Amino acid sequence: MIPLCAPYIRSDEWVRIKDCIDTEWVSYAGKYVQEFEANLARYTGAHHAAVTISGTSALHLALVVAGVRHDDEVILPALSFVSPANAIRYQGAWPTFVDVSMLDWQIDIGQIEDFLSNSCKRDSSGNLLNIHTGRRIAAIMPVHLLGGMADLDALIRIAAEHRLPLIEDAAECLGARWKEKGIGALLQNQPEIQRFTCTSFNGNKIMTTGGGGALLTNCPETAQLAKHLSTTAKTDDIEFDHDQVGYNYRMSNMAAALGVGQLEQLDYFLERKKEIAERYTEEFSACGAIPATLPTGRHVTNSHWLYTILLERDSRDLLRHLAEEGIQTRPLWKPLSSLSYLSGCHVVSDDNTRVLAERALSLPCSVGLSKNDQDTVIGQVIGYLG
Ligand SMILES: *Cc1c(COP(=O)(O)O)cnc(C)c1O
Repeated sequence: MIPLCAPYIRSDEWVRIKDCIDTEWVSYAGKYVQEFEANLARYTGAHHAAVTISGTSALHLALVVAGVRHDDEVILPALSFVSPANAIRYQGAWPTFVDVSMLDWQIDIGQIEDFLSNSCKRDSSGNLLNIHTGRRIAAIMPVHLLGGMADLDALIRIAAEHRLPLIEDAAECLGARWKEKGIGALLQNQPEIQRFTCTSFNGNKIMTTGGGGALLTNCPETAQLAKHLSTTAKTDDIEFDHDQVGYNYRMSNMAAALGVGQLEQLDYFLERKKEIAERYTEEFSACGAIPATLPTGRHVTNSHWLYTILLERDSRDLLRHLAEEGIQTRPLWKPLSSLSYLSGCHVVSDDNTRVLAERALSLPCSVGLSKNDQDTVIGQVIGYLG
């Protein structure tokens, strides 16, 4: 089987894992947690990183710190893996779905602006209310999809204009760059907004810690609070005093040890992903049955997390055909706006999301994908569509 996106662990990661075991520092106290956070912050350009047990828990912490409460609404693209929607529901809040743009397959900036300007109003206490539901809009949560990035300048401008926190789900774009800067970096002229960047180290992401995530921020108090909340909000080690509802979300030293080794190879992973993506694009455009491939917006250096094509018909036939040939592929996610447990949510629009969910297909693009295996995939796709 040629897998869709398998982890790549070929370096000396085991040396650090063995060190955790030998020294018995296997839980969440230990030097690799700090080392991984420092390296991650440096790599992404953020001032601080707080590492967690998953990307979902990093998103949840960001929502808690941003003050998102029961019955609030958070603006979210209808096209995404389910995790950010769940994190919003953990707070008792509701996603408000906007569509993605066909130009870059990222959250539709114009639609967010239109919604905030024309479908929301401020009440006497300064809260921004969705006039359709009466609920408070508490944050904007763009999801940078498939290795690309949504228009970050526009998102920051909109967040500042409407005084909303910006919580970026950057699970799929670790290593991507916006105007040559890392995903956690402050941008030129960035106004004072509450900005959180969350990423993931799940097994299928661009680098892995087995399972894990991180919250990146430029605010020292936010980082401190995130770490505090992720370790049961304990204020006294001996007396077991806790000052608020805390979580058990801190990454373990073992996971962080793997992360330190993986991060050292991230530039190589990115280079390989780029080569694989460019080769697909080249081969597909040379053939007649050209599927459109994931477009990238201006100013974005893509991390090429999942190489994805857009067919002119439902992608499931091709998926089944390739599966029979031992090639693992995957459609994009079912629109979140159509999940039954989220059916009470306000949907601004999800037309493009539905098209992409039906007709897009992600192809094998593991860092370790051999030339031979990629030839097989290319041959099968062209043979089937051509
Ligand atoms: C992978 C992913 C996450 C986080 O997933 P975890 O498994 O919790 O680390 C969040 N959002 C998106 C869009 C993802 O693809």
